[in-house]
Amino acid sequence: MKDPNCLFCKIVECEVPSEKVYEDATTYAFKDINPKAKVHVLVVPRKHYANVAELAAADPGLLAHMVKVAQRIADREYDGAYRLIFNTGEEAGQSVFHVHAHVLTGEPLEE
Ligand code: IMP
Repeated sequence: MKDPNCLFCKIVECEVPSEKVYEDATTYAFKDINPKAKVHVLVVPRKHYANVAELAAADPGLLAHMVKVAQRIADREYDGAYRLIFNTGEEAGQSVFHVHAHVLTGEPLEE
């Protein structure tokens, strides 16, 4: 399902350019345009869900798969160590309403 007004749907469809780091049948991962760590990747499902709660309710297996993709990226970049963030809701800092996991890795992270 695609939302024609959604930036990350457009990135998944390659209608907007991105620096891809991984893709498979259900997910797409690309570099964050404004990195907050040495390696800052966004993992998104190809299908549009507004946030992680919506995804968890609709397709928990896909959410688990997104975590596996994050792990795979961190295994490659930083010996398997990473921080995984799902901002959920505008007040919590969510600015793009297509669920995305922030994967921060590649260097020691401050608490
Ligand atoms: P949020 O604030 O948790 O919704 O995260 C949205 C993220 O998307 C932010 O970290 C932005 O830097 C990132 N972002 C916004 N537009 C683009 C883009 O076109 N390419 C890659 N990352 C983007």
